[in-house]
Amino acid sequence: MKNLAILGSTGSIGTQTLDIVRNNKELKVSALAAGSNTALLEEQAREFHPSVVVIYDETKWGELKDRLSDTDIRVLCKMEGLLEAAALPEADTVVAAVVGMIGIRPAIAAIESGKTLALANKETLVTAGHLIMPLARKKGVRILPVDSEHSAIFQSLNGEKRDSVETLILTASGGPFRGKKEQELKGMTAEDALRHPNWSMGQKITVDSATLVNKGLEVMEAGWLFDMPVERIQVVVHPQSIIHSAVEFVDGAVIAQLGMPDMRLPIQYALFYPERRPLNIRRLKLSEIRELTFEEPDTVTFRGFYLAMEAAKGGGSLPTVFNAANERAVSLFLSKRASFTDIAGIIEYCMEKHSVIKEPSLEEILYTEAETRRLIDERYGIRA
Ligand code: NAD
Ligand code: MG
Repeated sequence: MKNLAILGSTGSIGTQTLDIVRNNKELKVSALAAGSNTALLEEQAREFHPSVVVIYDETKWGELKDRLSDTDIRVLCKMEGLLEAAALPEADTVVAAVVGMIGIRPAIAAIESGKTLALANKETLVTAGHLIMPLARKKGVRILPVDSEHSAIFQSLNGEKRDSVETLILTASGGPFRGKKEQELKGMTAEDALRHPNWSMGQKITVDSATLVNKGLEVMEAGWLFDMPVERIQVVVHPQSIIHSAVEFVDGAVIAQLGMPDMRLPIQYALFYPERRPLNIRRLKLSEIRELTFEEPDTVTFRGFYLAMEAAKGGGSLPTVFNAANERAVSLFLSKRASFTDIAGIIEYCMEKHSVIKEPSLEEILYTEAETRRLIDERYGIRA
């Protein structure tokens, strides 16, 4: 029996994780946490009977408590609630599926208390990988990737020696705007950006896929997970999203993981690692797919990707600035206060203004995040 604490249970990864739980009697849910969706959280709590539910938004706490007043489920809120859920004694695995760097402290709390971490929340590693990876090693805690590319690499590395790896090959779908040039990108709306060709995901990561920022974040995530310098991580655009990523070995062999695009596979793989369990998803029929194509990413048009590589090379607090600026810019874009091409512009502006801190502490990371946001809001005339 495995006991899960699912942070971000109402989102795309969270609900698909619960789908896996529904189909596996060996999985039990001890805690569910979400940002503000009380109705779905109540529904999930009634179906999965956790001992704790957390709603981050403090103003919704009373409502959720009322909704669950006929149960003996404890209802918590705010960051304290998330930290308690992440460290819950009866849970052995924490599924980190909140969106954004709000996930850093819960991830650290989970590792500190010895939980296996099934990690979807890439922003955490991008900004705090230098704190999280050594802490996981010290605590003897496993970090199992949920992100499909990283799961594909993890599966491809199975049984291989670390020093026989030459490069990691991350595939990218190219998003909905693949092939477009800057002029065309200027007028793209949130509705256009949210129409992803192959994957149905949360809004923020879908916009990140359209800007290619997602791939930049994933290069940094792979660097931390597999201890690989970014120079040895290649990105190739593969519009069919069938090859989920690959590893090139020193003898020239390339091992990849293929399948239809469905996040339930990497989620389930992380939850049962090292075992494979049956999973009822669409099967890959190569003769029906017929062609798999590949191209170089357009890093001139999709400047967000170029900036991500600059942030990765700069290191220290620069990836935090990159990520925090992107989070804020995407939220301004989604609320129609910034244009699509403003996203990369905002990131660049913040990176230029920043003086890099070499090995930022957790406090310095959170301070850098707040400062980056303040800088953007000041530029856009937004009051705190
Ligand atoms: P989503 O927007 O669908 O869901 C986000 C979840 O986080 C929701 O449950 C929301 O309530 C919760 N949340 C937001 N703010 C919170 C807060 N302050 N406190 C507690 N909970 C909060 O996002 P998603 O697409 O499921 O993505 C989640 C993470 O997984 C992201 O880091 C994303 O990059 C990563 N990821 C997602 C996919 C995918 O297919 N969706 C694939 C790979 C990686
Ligand atoms: Mg991915």
